[in-house]
Amino acid sequence: MSTLRFHAIKESLNRKPLKIEEKERRSAIFGANVFNESTMRQSLTKDAYKSVMDAIENGSKINRGIADQIASAMKDWALSKGVTHYTHWFQPLTGATAEKHDAFFETIGNGLAVEKFGGGQLVQQEPDASSFPNGGIRNTFEARGYTAWDPTSPAFIYETTLCIPTVFVAYTGEALDYKTPLLRALSAVDDAAVAVAKYFDKNVKKVNASLGWEQEYFLIDSALVAARPDITLTGRTLLGHSPAKGQQLDDHYFGTIPNRAMSFMRDLETECMLLGIPVKTRHNEVAPNQFELAPIYDEANLAVDHNSLLMDVMEKIAYRHDFKVLFHEKPFAGVNGSGKHNNWSLSTDTGVNLLGPGKTPMSNLQFLTFFINTIKAVHKNEELLRAAIASASNDHRLGANEAPPAIISVFIGEQLTRVLNGLESVTKGKLSPEEKTDLKLNVVGKIPEILLDNTDRNRTSPFAFTGNKFEFRAVGSTANCANPMTVLNSIMAKQLIEFKVEVDALIKEKDMKKDDAIFNVLREYIKQSKNILFEGNGYGDEWQAEAEKRGLSNNKTTPEALKARVSKQTIDLFEGLGVMNKTEIEARYEIEIEEYTLRIQIEGRVLGDIARNHVVPTAVKYQNTLIENVKGLKDIFGKEFKVYAKEQVELIQDISKHIEAINSGVTTMTNERKNANSIENSEKKAVAYCHNVKPLFDEIRYHCDKLELLIDDELWPLTKYREMLFTK
Ligand code: ADP
Ligand code: MG
Repeated sequence: MSTLRFHAIKESLNRKPLKIEEKERRSAIFGANVFNESTMRQSLTKDAYKSVMDAIENGSKINRGIADQIASAMKDWALSKGVTHYTHWFQPLTGATAEKHDAFFETIGNGLAVEKFGGGQLVQQEPDASSFPNGGIRNTFEARGYTAWDPTSPAFIYETTLCIPTVFVAYTGEALDYKTPLLRALSAVDDAAVAVAKYFDKNVKKVNASLGWEQEYFLIDSALVAARPDITLTGRTLLGHSPAKGQQLDDHYFGTIPNRAMSFMRDLETECMLLGIPVKTRHNEVAPNQFELAPIYDEANLAVDHNSLLMDVMEKIAYRHDFKVLFHEKPFAGVNGSGKHNNWSLSTDTGVNLLGPGKTPMSNLQFLTFFINTIKAVHKNEELLRAAIASASNDHRLGANEAPPAIISVFIGEQLTRVLNGLESVTKGKLSPEEKTDLKLNVVGKIPEILLDNTDRNRTSPFAFTGNKFEFRAVGSTANCANPMTVLNSIMAKQLIEFKVEVDALIKEKDMKKDDAIFNVLREYIKQSKNILFEGNGYGDEWQAEAEKRGLSNNKTTPEALKARVSKQTIDLFEGLGVMNKTEIEARYEIEIEEYTLRIQIEGRVLGDIARNHVVPTAVKYQNTLIENVKGLKDIFGKEFKVYAKEQVELIQDISKHIEAINSGVTTMTNERKNANSIENSEKKAVAYCHNVKPLFDEIRYHCDKLELLIDDELWPLTKYREMLFTK
């Protein structure tokens, strides 16, 4: 066995779970490392506190004097907790979080030093941003970008550093991060939803989008991963034969959480508590060594920050426990991949969940209004939603009979389907008193009791209504939720604006009552967007055919899907709402398409490297042993040796065939990469990588995996699937 693999297995087998002691109740430490509302109330003057709260609730500006006060209070609070540095924490378009640490420490002459942190440093900072992806924005306009404080997401302490959540923008104002457009989309949906909610309750002043993500991941022993250059460099296995036992017994899903993983989770949860991330659920997932973690949902911007932070924290805690956490959507072939369901809803400052059915017919009409508008928005923008979850890694998962298909559809359940059918048949124009009563009693009035037993959940649907929220299930496990959340909230904002215009027009021009007008518009919406509703099996081939008939898109690959990012409809949507301008939209598209190419390019290189430098030499070594053996048999048995050497000779031939296939496969792939690289146009280059390079991976992998089965286990250099997936 290769020394690396031998030691890796030995090391992993000897591991014991770390002892995790929890001395305090979780509720007692929750948010202890967050500069949250209660800390601010204690440490800020009344004016400063009011000013921050006003900024959080109404987006008002904080003046310089107040910023100085806040910075000083933040610094004192941080110093009291042993913090030495501060950083502007942001989410550039690389998908990771970024930070540049500065010490509070400053010299003031005469050999003296103090800790300093002023409003200026709190509010704005210039990271050395030249190496973050910008899709050409900064080349075209300005050389620099800056980070600016986002008071809606509280500062927190992580590893002796005060982290200040910020947006990242170019000096010319274009967003260079995930957060900026998200904040703009949230503000747009707030305005639009308040206007509609006022039909039902004049007191509504603010609507918040909420997000509850469910993070899936794999935990693999770090020593075993170290013997896998593919995982180390690409986050997934590019080869590896499936083990004799996979997930077919479902024993992991129903089993208890293994000890080492449990100790990791408890450690992680303590850190999450300190950081104010309200993690609530933990459980095993379907595949071996796969798990899920979910928090209590939160306001969407905060929830997005929490998820990004969590992914960072998970990697660090995993390190402490000698694990590597894999966020990749498909780290192992043959077992399930990972996703990140995005549970989404809208709720008012009066405490009403707009996607939760209420107790009275009126509140149910409000529910139906938001419910049907969501369906309409998804129908109209299904391609953009598909684009929002497109990535090289998520391509492996979507449509792979374990995750939703690449076709976006909405599942609402049998009972709500019946309600919509009932609504669809309401009379055009003014409703008769009898019809209204019937509607209220038999359609709208039936909703609450119905939803309680609406338990039939369709796991194959990419966008499902689950009682009081929609669940966007097609989001990948590596994704930054800001991207799908920006799209979802934007399309909803636009939809609600249009809805209000239509309802108001009926009230004004057709002299309709408000209820009548709402019923009329909703009826038309149901008719127009019916095609997006699908209750059947999303994995079946019939659905692909049916979806095509219905005119729904089925964009199977990322380059295909991403086109919707820059369509006229998308540009109109984002520009109209002030979420992104054309330059920002095009820059993002450019970044995403390039990222796709880079990912496949790196995978191709790594696969070629492993195949030629690990697999083929190992195969040759084993083949030589066989040849020696055959020669020896000949020495002993003379002519009769063939009887005894039959199997060995066949093996020698088989190995040669596979080596030949690997070499020609790698050569073809290298040539295709060269061809693709010579293409200037980034879109065409991505398509070439998608259609000419990527398919060759399977061929190369097939022969490598065959060799894995033929070659003496003692010689195989890479840790095997069974070792990585079944080590507890
Ligand atoms: P599952 O989908 O695994 O069956 P649940 O339906 O209980 O689990 O909830 C999944 C997630 O949905 C949780 O993170 C929860 O916080 C979140 N959630 C519940 N209500 C809302 C809501 N109104 N808005 C957004 N997320 C929500
Ligand atoms: Mg879920």
